[in-house]
Amino acid sequence: MIAAKGYAAPKAKVPLEPFKFERREVGPHDVQIEIQYCGVCHSDIHQVRDEWGGSIFPMVPGHEIVGKITKVGDHVTKFKVGETAGIGCFVDSCRHCPSCLAGLEQYCDVGMIGTYNSLDKGGSPTYGGYSNQIIVDENYTLHISDKLPLAGVAPLLCAGITTYSPIMEWKMGKGHKVGVVGLGGLGHMAVKLAASKGAEVTVLSTSPSKKADAEKLGAHHFLVTKDAEQMKATAGTLDFIINTISAQHEYNDYLPLLKLDGTMVLVGVPPEAPQVAAFNLIMKRRRIAGSLIGGIKETQEMLDYCAEHGITSDVEVINIDYINEAYERMIKGDVRYRFVIDMASL
Ligand code: NAP
Ligand code: ZN
Ligand code: ZN
Repeated sequence: MIAAKGYAAPKAKVPLEPFKFERREVGPHDVQIEIQYCGVCHSDIHQVRDEWGGSIFPMVPGHEIVGKITKVGDHVTKFKVGETAGIGCFVDSCRHCPSCLAGLEQYCDVGMIGTYNSLDKGGSPTYGGYSNQIIVDENYTLHISDKLPLAGVAPLLCAGITTYSPIMEWKMGKGHKVGVVGLGGLGHMAVKLAASKGAEVTVLSTSPSKKADAEKLGAHHFLVTKDAEQMKATAGTLDFIINTISAQHEYNDYLPLLKLDGTMVLVGVPPEAPQVAAFNLIMKRRRIAGSLIGGIKETQEMLDYCAEHGITSDVEVINIDYINEAYERMIKGDVRYRFVIDMASL
């Protein structure tokens, strides 16, 4: 086994603290990555607080991982020592169900193996990227271009792909009005990516102070959701809404903004289940859909797209001992727009 160190939550709802643990030896198909940066996703907070149920402790969160490859197994063909690589939200899946064969490992029939808070095929818990190194099968590892600043690339591994995938699936782009609800980690990537595809983007936010940022990120309009007049004026105008809200809210407040056949894609996962008024759907044949991260093939495509178009996340780089404060700030919506841990601080 290989000695590793990181930060872990010893149990639900308590602060994270330094943690020593072991990783598996580098197998024939594995790469070993020295982690340089790891993004902080709101899903880390939901799981550390066991808000979705079934959390495994101690938990080392983190699934927006970038770093340098320090060792490769004998049969590895896709990666070399010294290369920059990334790991996203999962590290394995069954590899033979229809979803896996279609490159949609996130929807694996058996269940993807999460980068953390999961059990691997041997039944041992997986530990994520708030740590100095990780060992992953090369087929679940991503190539990272050296063209872009690495701290800003880390959040692409979750926030980036989670918003890119629905934009591609629903072909959002030129001629479409796209609403992005919640300007946090996912939301700010949704704005950049949807705008880069030519969509007319409206940010719907509870934070009036984010208006200037929204425009810098590429949004064409900014709407304060607490302002009933602004909401009314936008009713029936949007083709799509990408809903990234992490906390309890009313879907019924947003559905009326969609036009005929409009779709609200849920990516945010509030622990509570909101109600949906049937009239908000049937009156304009509206739809609610969901989308989960993205497969390995699409994640690589997104990373290459971002490298080509110079798209990265706007980040606040933090030391790992700031992680508990970062969580508190995220819960208050006070993040511009992704915390990324500099792992040299470990
Ligand atoms: P985040 O950075 O904390 O951003 C969430 C944003 O939602 C906040 O900045 C805030 O934006 C808004 N918000 C927060 N509380 C709200 C409330 N009570 N009412 C209305 N708006 C509120 O979180 P994130 O990392 O982007 O993650 C967002 C959600 O997506 C989380 O639930 C996470 O678990 C989920 N997620 C899902 C996937 C997937 O595959 N589907 C992948 C990653 C994350 P404003 O200040 O602009 O209002
Ligand atoms: Zn995430
Ligand atoms: Zn599968």
